[in-house]
Amino acid sequence: MEDQTGNVSEEEISRLKERLNEDAESSGYHLNPDDEMTRDLVRGLIVNQKRHGYPGCPCRLSADDKQEDLDIICPCDYRDPDLGDYGMCYCALYVTGEILEGTKEVRPIPERRPSRDERAQNLKAPISSEASESVDSSRAGGAASTGETALSKPVWRCRVCGYLCGRDEPPEVCPICKAKKERFERFM
Ligand code: SF4
Repeated sequence: MEDQTGNVSEEEISRLKERLNEDAESSGYHLNPDDEMTRDLVRGLIVNQKRHGYPGCPCRLSADDKQEDLDIICPCDYRDPDLGDYGMCYCALYVTGEILEGTKEVRPIPERRPSRDERAQNLKAPISSEASESVDSSRAGGAASTGETALSKPVWRCRVCGYLCGRDEPPEVCPICKAKKERFERFM
């Protein structure tokens, strides 16, 4: 039987770490400077990719179901809010400049992910008009901020960073946070 987890080489870890570092820097974030910890987390991502077929969060329990775990495919839906509030993501793989420079206190990060039951409920709930109105227009790129209701194209929202765009299909990769196409949801 194929080994789905082990034998992650140091080279594999270095390659992915390098890519994640480039993505982080281009998004204005950084990888945790603790190299040993960061490599462990990157190893966890590779193990999850091999085991489940997607790079689920190394600090959270996987359901081994991609649809159910979409919100915790790295970078997870909770990364940016946690970086904003705590200066690091839940696993501390990503950190902000404030944390690097020591100008922000390192604090424990509470789990932001809703429980399984709550997530199931959220999936069933329709998008409320309040939620639609609360979209940050600075992230909307103008696509959904005009108040028009008769849009000629669907509007897609990146579930990771909130980027919005109006086009027939969501982009392959979010231009802001680099999340993949599957992380977009139909917004309008
Ligand atoms: S960004 Fe999210 S999924 Fe990735 S390591 Fe951090 S907490 Fe885990």
